[in-house]
Amino acid sequence: MNVYSRCILCNHWQTITLQAPISLSPSCESCGQILWSHMTETFQTELKLTQCPQCASPHLYRQKDFNRKLGLGLIVVGVATSVITYGLSLVVVTLLDLWLYRRVGEVGLCYQCHAQFREDPNVQTLSPFDLEIHDYYRSVTASSA
Ligand SMILES: [Zn+2]
Ligand SMILES: [Zn+2]
Repeated sequence: MNVYSRCILCNHWQTITLQAPISLSPSCESCGQILWSHMTETFQTELKLTQCPQCASPHLYRQKDFNRKLGLGLIVVGVATSVITYGLSLVVVTLLDLWLYRRVGEVGLCYQCHAQFREDPNVQTLSPFDLEIHDYYRSVTASSA
């Protein structure tokens, strides 16, 4: 599993590659702070995400690991060249976008600290994105800031 998370002390984002079982919590490559103080036993032994190891939030979701910027960039190129290609480029980029979208795997995300969990063998056990939970966490973090 690959985890992309932020250090709570120095705000440094980093990718950590994990292999179960985990004996020690990884530490920040920038300031040395222990990154995850909320690892559950099942996470340490089987990488099972029942809660976020970083912030202890039980709310995680999954979504397609699709690079929106790349998708959008393709459309822009398609539109810009559609005049010379008589619209054919639009068809091509739309198909390319669809193909990319189907090809990508799913990524697990934390509503609270936005940590990203890639190559998670149990990603299917997470729920899809829920706007209500998302808004709840947004209001919580906004009021505490
Ligand atoms: Zn740090
Ligand atoms: Zn979290």
